[in-house]
Amino acid sequence: MENFVYLLGDRRAQEALVVDPAWDVKAILRAAEEEGYRLTGALITHTHFDHVNGLEELLQKTDAPVYINRNEAEFLKGMKRNIRKISGGDKIKVGTVEITFLHTPGHTPGSQCFLVQDHLVSGDTLFIQACGRCDLAGGDPEQMYYSLKRLSELDEKIILYPGHNYSREPTSTIGEEKRGNPYLQCRNLQEFLAFRMGG
Ligand SMILES: [Zn+2]
Repeated sequence: MENFVYLLGDRRAQEALVVDPAWDVKAILRAAEEEGYRLTGALITHTHFDHVNGLEELLQKTDAPVYINRNEAEFLKGMKRNIRKISGGDKIKVGTVEITFLHTPGHTPGSQCFLVQDHLVSGDTLFIQACGRCDLAGGDPEQMYYSLKRLSELDEKIILYPGHNYSREPTSTIGEEKRGNPYLQCRNLQEFLAFRMGG
C-alpha cells in the first residue's frame, strides 16, 4: 500500500501545504525545502493511520494549521490547537493559489478531496480504475456512490492525483476515469451496490 504525499504550493509565495503527512516526515520536509517552499499547513484527506501517521512529528517541527473535514476532526482531538474544521465548499489559499474542499464521504464520513485549478487530489475516494473501500469503520457504500458521481461530473480534463499507487500510472484524468473506471460505469445506486458486492 504505497501512499502518495503531495505538496500544493505557490512558487512565487514559496509556501506549500502538505497533503496527508505520513510515513517519512523527514523526506517531506526535505522535498519542500528543495523546492524552496515553507510548509504552512497540512491538508488531511481522511484520518486513516496510513495518511496521518506523520502528523505529530510534522507539528513538532512546524506548528501549522491542519485542515480536516468537521465530520472527522474528532479523530485528531489531541491536536486541537492546530485543527481547522472544514466543510464541503470551503476554500483556502496558499499564496495566491485557491484550494476548494469537496466533502466526499463513503470511504470514511469525513473524507475530502482538494480541487486546485485543474488538479484533483482524491485521497482514498477515487483511485485510478478503482475506488476506496467502504467496509471499514465509518464506511458507507451509498455515500461513496454519490461522492463518485459528483467527482465524475467535474470537468473531464481535470487531472486526478489519488491517495495510493494502485496503478501503473501515478495520475489519470476525470475523463479517463469516467470512461474506464468500472465503479463509474454503474448507472444507479442499485447497480453500484450490486457491483461492490460482486467485487
Ligand atoms: Zn483510507
